[in-house]
Amino acid sequence: AKFVYDFTEGNKDLKDLLGGKGANLAEMTNLGLPVPPGFTITTEACKTYLDSGEEPAALRDEVSAHLDALEEAMGKKLGQADNPLLVSVRSGAKFSMPGMMDTVLNIGLSDKSVQGLAKQAGDERFAWDSYRRLIQMFGKTVLGVDGELFEDALESAKAAKKVTVDTELEAADLKKLVTKFKKIVKTEAGRDFPQDPREQMDLAIHAVFDSWNTDRAKLYRRQERIPHDLGTAVNVCSMVFGNLGPDSGTGVAFTRDPASGHQGVYGDYLQNAQGEDVVAGIRNTVPLADLEKIDKKSYDQLMQIMETLENHYKDLCDIEFTIERGQLWMLQTRVGKRTAGAAFRIATQLVDQGLIDEAEALQRVNGAQLAQLMFPRFDEDTKVQTVGRGIAASPGAAVGKAVFDSYTAVKWSRSGEKVILVRRETNPDDLDGMIAAEGILTSRGGKTSHAAVVARGMGKTCVCGAEELEVDTKRRRMTVPGGHVVEEGDLISIDGSSGKVYLGEVPVVPSPVVEYFEGRMHAGAQDADELVEAVHRIMAFADRKRRLRVRANADNAEDAMRARRFGAQGIGLCRTEHMFLGDRRELVERLILADTEAEREESLKQLLPLQKQDFVELFSAMDGLPVTVRLLDPPLHEFLPDITELSVRVALAESRQEPHENLLRLLQAVHRLHEQNPMLGLRGVRLGLVIPGLFTMQVRAIAEAAAERKAAKGDPRAEIMIPLVGTVQELEIVREEADQVVAEVEAATGTDLKLSIGTMIELPRAALTAGQIAEAAEFFSFGTNDLTQTVWGFSRDDVEASFFTAYLEKGIFGVSPFETIDRDGVGSLVKLAAEAGRATRPDLKLGVCGEHGGDPESVHFFHEVGLDYVSCSPFRIPVARLEAGRAAS
Ligand code: PEP
Ligand code: MG
Repeated sequence: AKFVYDFTEGNKDLKDLLGGKGANLAEMTNLGLPVPPGFTITTEACKTYLDSGEEPAALRDEVSAHLDALEEAMGKKLGQADNPLLVSVRSGAKFSMPGMMDTVLNIGLSDKSVQGLAKQAGDERFAWDSYRRLIQMFGKTVLGVDGELFEDALESAKAAKKVTVDTELEAADLKKLVTKFKKIVKTEAGRDFPQDPREQMDLAIHAVFDSWNTDRAKLYRRQERIPHDLGTAVNVCSMVFGNLGPDSGTGVAFTRDPASGHQGVYGDYLQNAQGEDVVAGIRNTVPLADLEKIDKKSYDQLMQIMETLENHYKDLCDIEFTIERGQLWMLQTRVGKRTAGAAFRIATQLVDQGLIDEAEALQRVNGAQLAQLMFPRFDEDTKVQTVGRGIAASPGAAVGKAVFDSYTAVKWSRSGEKVILVRRETNPDDLDGMIAAEGILTSRGGKTSHAAVVARGMGKTCVCGAEELEVDTKRRRMTVPGGHVVEEGDLISIDGSSGKVYLGEVPVVPSPVVEYFEGRMHAGAQDADELVEAVHRIMAFADRKRRLRVRANADNAEDAMRARRFGAQGIGLCRTEHMFLGDRRELVERLILADTEAEREESLKQLLPLQKQDFVELFSAMDGLPVTVRLLDPPLHEFLPDITELSVRVALAESRQEPHENLLRLLQAVHRLHEQNPMLGLRGVRLGLVIPGLFTMQVRAIAEAAAERKAAKGDPRAEIMIPLVGTVQELEIVREEADQVVAEVEAATGTDLKLSIGTMIELPRAALTAGQIAEAAEFFSFGTNDLTQTVWGFSRDDVEASFFTAYLEKGIFGVSPFETIDRDGVGSLVKLAAEAGRATRPDLKLGVCGEHGGDPESVHFFHEVGLDYVSCSPFRIPVARLEAGRAAS
């Protein structure tokens, strides 16, 4: 294998091998853009190194050959004493992991070559500053020295000189600092800072490989669902300097606004600085537009390049660039992260510009972004005090208690508190806290600061660079303009769409996107209109493309109507147990505990008209669309009084010598029906088989309701679904009784009801014998909640709170199998059952009604295995429609 690629050899489609950064550097090189020459070491080399602890045998020679070529091209040698070539060594994985992995700049500087650099640059201060940066970065990331030691030494050097900013240190000060830094390295790492440039480079390359497996990188990957076995590429790139004086500088740019999608000049520029200074948000930048005044030639060239990139990538690109003494260099580009709203707008704008088609537009957005747009927002009209305004870095409305460090954020959120993490700026060590918080507020840094980039990636609300806020993390407080002090634990609200910060709790209003789905969207703010327009068009693309139909899980007319407005094409699951709670619970209790035939008949007689009315309402709300009604499913204890409570009542009555025969009888019955493991007990079809008349009452209610709707010229399309079937025999018995009742109702009303009867597939045995079950079922609906529970042997009600955190931390799975379908296990059973079912009955209708029906990744799976529809809660219907469209395009 080839382990090293020159920038002229790669291209943007080689991200697996060259990482995102390397692939795009190659692409820009080949577009003829000004990229400093360099080469990329592949992810394959990294994987070999991580697996075996050693770099592949051929790597050293390949690196030497590419280094020779680079030296040849640049006319100078790495670390050459009188005129050194310097390189950066940067990580670059397939997926961007901002700030997660390591970078070392200025490799090639040594006690000797620092002099040569000073002479060549004609700037002694610059050379020594570069050298001290190298020792600092190298010491920290390659040799594992605590970074604070360098920071402290730098601070004392400034204090000794009574200056506040780094740039006020002169060459002589920096020389002394270099001596100090080398001492720190020697003491802490037990070795000298290496003077051999090739040794510096090789060690840095290994450090980048190793950085793939730091704890924070692993955590980030789990969060973002990035596989752990990809490895990172390493980019070795000749250095260009943004810190060579006022005609130099460094910046970041977006080809469109990543918050709104609008075209224009967006970005930040920092004069006389090196790249890391901008991304770290340490010094405050100027808007990119100001570059036009500072250096018109470079500005014009940059604008030209941005246009080239947008047309080439056909997407929003973000860019890192450096200007060295008036010469513009491109250091990085990639398809840029963006807010959810911007993703929708950009996708439609690009369609309008003729750059992409509808199918491609669907790939530019996703269900998670749509879900985010459906979050409520702050009510603009409430009179609450705005105490600051920062940069709207990642949208959303977050309310919580202010906390000033990551540890507290995690601790408080574990105990159920909502928190806002407030920091001066964040760095990768804050990741835990950012995950735990509702939102993130910083007082420094721009749209490209760590806080902003990471929050956008996570879909977390973030306001950054709110400079009027004085954040004092040591004393756990912040002072707002006017002097008011926000202490740890005080409630604050932040608006990631406007950048506003409020004291106290601000009420929220629904999102314009939800208002649109609800059909209540009025011409509002211009911003909202554009967004709604974009969502509307993308949904139309998705609906045109998708094969899967989307139904709702709904048990009452109100939910059904909302589901219909959101685009539901029927009800995939009506859980009838929800109709038996409240006032009717006692009727069910009496039914279950009935001692005599007469008592049971009586309770059934009372339940029938109530059930029928439920269905009349549901069928009329869903007129013309299928409604799958599931017969009673849940464990009986949900309908019976709590056993402990009842025991106490009996004991109390006894001690007071009050009459308590009835109570006692109830207690005995509850004892008799008590189960250690009710989820595996008397529920579902088993209930129908042991309580005579229960299922037939429900079937009668469905049939009579349908007949009534027909008589009223309605178009009811009921489907009767039997839960928790494990063998075809169960289904056959229930079916026979049901068919008879339906026939009776049809005869009595003189209507043909066209009711179909099917079953849920939610037990492994049902899936494994699906071919037999299909003999007695006209449709299958996969109950992936119970199927996941029974396939894994995980109690669906307990595990997420008990050991799942440990499982997620250990990476056993990246996401709960109750949330996203476990393709390999549960998914195989679904696939197998679907195939076996269709083999028996080619026109068998197949759907899914577990929670997975509304989960983006799972929707793609259900599309792939050929189901006819997914069914999910009304609120997730738009997400399912969109993802079904994406899956099909
Ligand atoms: C299921 O098990 O997936 C299902 C939809 O049924 P319930 O969640 O009601 O058990
Ligand atoms: Mg179930």
